[in-house]
Amino acid sequence: MLKKIICCLIFLIFLTTGCGKKQTEPEIISDLDVIRDRNELIVGVREDTKPFGYRDKDGNLQGIDIELAKEIAQYILDDKNKVKFVTVNAGNRIEKLNSKEVDILVATMTITSQRLRVVDFSQAYYVAGQALMVRAKSDITSLNQAVLYGPMIVVFGTTAEKALRDTYPAAKIIGAKTYQEAYEMLKSGKGDGIVADDTILMGFTGDKSVKLLPKRYSAEPYGVAMRQDASSDDLKIAIDELIGNMATDGKLKKLYK
Ligand code: GLU
Repeated sequence: MLKKIICCLIFLIFLTTGCGKKQTEPEIISDLDVIRDRNELIVGVREDTKPFGYRDKDGNLQGIDIELAKEIAQYILDDKNKVKFVTVNAGNRIEKLNSKEVDILVATMTITSQRLRVVDFSQAYYVAGQALMVRAKSDITSLNQAVLYGPMIVVFGTTAEKALRDTYPAAKIIGAKTYQEAYEMLKSGKGDGIVADDTILMGFTGDKSVKLLPKRYSAEPYGVAMRQDASSDDLKIAIDELIGNMATDGKLKKLYK
């Protein structure tokens, strides 16, 4: 009898203390829901990466990344104008994303394994390649040769900066915050070459006092960056779906034109 009473008591304690109940998981509020509730998508973009993100003569943001951001707003909010742009640079973009100042980055950002440790990426929407730009009168014909000359110019926080420091640890490297600044450093002779994505360097080739050398030193797949947590899963699915659709129906190619 005593045994039975003890068993009943243990069972009661078990029930009343909630043991045996499955602990409720903390609720995940998806970024996609937050954006839809706000009815606005906040996107980190560049203003120094013509033709991907730049300002026209009236000061309006233009470019492939800007158009892609509008397409994303259209896809998830049904209105391509429900997008707010926040300008970022290569050095501060991850911080702006992870501090939730922006929802996503559409910012000529290469998908790399190092960055995948701190952010998530969509599938690639473009593939650029690193190249070298020098003054038109320069004798430099390759990167191997260039690093033996004067300083090489890079934009801080870019894959070019990392590649150069990794491959040529003894090279003299000077950094700029923006591509405009890097270009002015080259023109004024502060450095002897800019290493950066060909797409962005092409934005300066209208100036005949500089030249873009033909060799490409890397493949730079651009992805849309999102925060790396479960709340961004739905957003990633939506953006991947959109990029997939745009690749199939030719919209992505049209953007590049
Ligand atoms: N795609 C390169 C990167 O992600 C360079 C372009 C940029 O400045 O964003 O670092």
